[in-house]
Amino acid sequence: MGRLLSRIICISRSRASRSRSVSPPNGCSPFRNPGGLSRVWGSGLSRAPWFLSGARTFSSGTGSGRESIEYDVVIVGAGPAGLSAAIRLKQLCRERDLDLSVCVVEKGAEVGAHILSGNVFEPRALNELLPDWRNEEAPVDVPVLSDKFWYLTKDRTFALPCPFNNRGNYVISLSQLTRWMGVKAEELGVEIYPGFAAGEVLYDSNDNVVGVGTNDMGISKDGSKKETFQHGVELKGKLTLLAEGCRGSLSEKIISKYNLRGKVQAQHQTYALGIKEVWEIDESKHEPGAVLHTLGWPLDHKTYGGSFVYHMKDRQVSIGLVIALNYQNPYLNPYEEFQKFKHHPAIKSLLEGGTVIQYGARTLNEGGFQSIPYPVFPGGAIVGCSAGFLNVPKIKGTHTAMKSGMLAAEAAFSVLSEGSSMVVYYDFLRKSWIWEELKKARNYRPVAKLHTPIEYPRADGILSFDVPTSLHRSNTNHEHDQPAHLQLRDPTIPELVNLPEYAGPESRYCPARVYEYVPDENGVLKLQINAQNCLHCKACDIKDPQQNIEWTVPEGGGGPGYSVM
Ligand SMILES: Cc1cc2nc3c(=O)[nH]c(=O)nc-3n(C[C@H](O)[C@H](O)[C@H](O)COP(=O)(O)OP(=O)(O)OC[C@H]3O[C@@H](n4cnc5c(N)ncnc54)[C@H](O)[C@@H]3O)c2cc1C
Ligand code: SF4
Repeated sequence: MGRLLSRIICISRSRASRSRSVSPPNGCSPFRNPGGLSRVWGSGLSRAPWFLSGARTFSSGTGSGRESIEYDVVIVGAGPAGLSAAIRLKQLCRERDLDLSVCVVEKGAEVGAHILSGNVFEPRALNELLPDWRNEEAPVDVPVLSDKFWYLTKDRTFALPCPFNNRGNYVISLSQLTRWMGVKAEELGVEIYPGFAAGEVLYDSNDNVVGVGTNDMGISKDGSKKETFQHGVELKGKLTLLAEGCRGSLSEKIISKYNLRGKVQAQHQTYALGIKEVWEIDESKHEPGAVLHTLGWPLDHKTYGGSFVYHMKDRQVSIGLVIALNYQNPYLNPYEEFQKFKHHPAIKSLLEGGTVIQYGARTLNEGGFQSIPYPVFPGGAIVGCSAGFLNVPKIKGTHTAMKSGMLAAEAAFSVLSEGSSMVVYYDFLRKSWIWEELKKARNYRPVAKLHTPIEYPRADGILSFDVPTSLHRSNTNHEHDQPAHLQLRDPTIPELVNLPEYAGPESRYCPARVYEYVPDENGVLKLQINAQNCLHCKACDIKDPQQNIEWTVPEGGGGPGYSVM
């Protein structure tokens, strides 16, 4: 029996006694159904009333060899959006004296392990979700005290009027906030399963989403089963909420399958890549709550992006560079731009004498309002950055991700308790403060012959570092002997197209040097994929000129291990 299943059964048994539900003849536990209406999911999908239960049911023999566990709501991703949805659902259960079973699967080895963001945190959604957070030891305790905005040339700094209004906001580690939210969710009865990646969407015969499947574990590179083999598990949900963050792999499939962009004439999504380090700096230079954003150097005027420097507590500073992935010059290397940035005199003087304690990278949405797809599909909804609710001018998406999760939870609760439709989630969104905040952006494609290669300086090992050193600081780790999670749709494209036409941009845009062109025995350059280094940033899924790279979830628990991001 798989680890997930054993844990679920154990949790389920221990919670069974706490359920307020009454057992029906078939052994499942329904909660009260105030309206007594028939249930309608999304676009007209109706389900039998026994589904309205707070307990899980287990079955096997699905034909795939996988066990199947049934929940009321299955949530994919324990980020701010997924955890807010889970918490809100359970709060509503308490308020209405109903019991719904809610599970969250998370591909990181623990909650927060794959969460990278800066983060200047706007507490609006947290105030609504957990209003007593100040008394409950939330790791939100460094208020923003200064807010600067600079334009940089190579050697100089020009102060600009600050376009951000961060008064009332906090400098936090989002990784730590999600850990805290995970605890809050579990206290309310949410079942969280870190280390399990949802690799597949499950559909019924009418093409309605009925849950997700976690990947089989213990498969070797050649596809054979290892001694450690365990079947994945089918997590069936009356409703499934996708909260995978930016460029979610299941979310993208759903958006495309149900044409969710076409449904509301949304533009395609655009993206930026954020590369970040956390430094421990000299006490005398540390100003908890100080926030700095910069524009300009090292990026040229054609490349959209900028840096952030956030002073957290305990002498820690979160420093990063965000570069829009629509940059024109394929010779540009975001990792090297970031290393260069730290040599600016104003930044160097801050970091000198300090130490790097963590490295990471992640993409973020840049499309804004115009790129939001219709976020409801038959059987569920998309929340948070998977749907693109990031406020681009503010560079903030945590509060909107949380709010969208809460609204989806309210919609899901009304579906499961009153038989309404999940489409109310879209109505709730449009009436909420999220809707007012979002803006739009554009995208275009690079061609190498119009550009000249960029010479980057060698890393000095003090302020700037080579990729292997940085990777060590990301704690990234994958089981080596597993099928590649980075797949080429056409394996000939790297050598036939990417290298001759675009100078092999994947060898530069990937912040983990996963893609390397190395000569074969005849001296011909061939693409080598070092998948075990992957940081799950998703840049390759977005930036490949031919959209030839498909990022799929690796074995659960693999990937970065952020703790202070
Ligand atoms: C460099 C950078 C700086 C930022 N700065 C700020 C800032 O200062 N302020 C701010 O408000 N916002 C900021 N953001 C944006 C903010 O991080 C996001 O808006 C927010 O994290 C979105 O929350 P989410 O829950 O939608 O997704 P995420 O935070 O990405 O969480 C998604 C979770 O789902 C998991 N997951 C994904 N796919 C699967 C799967 N198939 N199976 C299981 N688990 C899965 C992931 O491991 C992750 O834990 C920044 C982002 C970046 C990249
Ligand atoms: S392989 Fe892709 S997802 Fe992984 S770190 Fe490189 S660009 Fe990011």
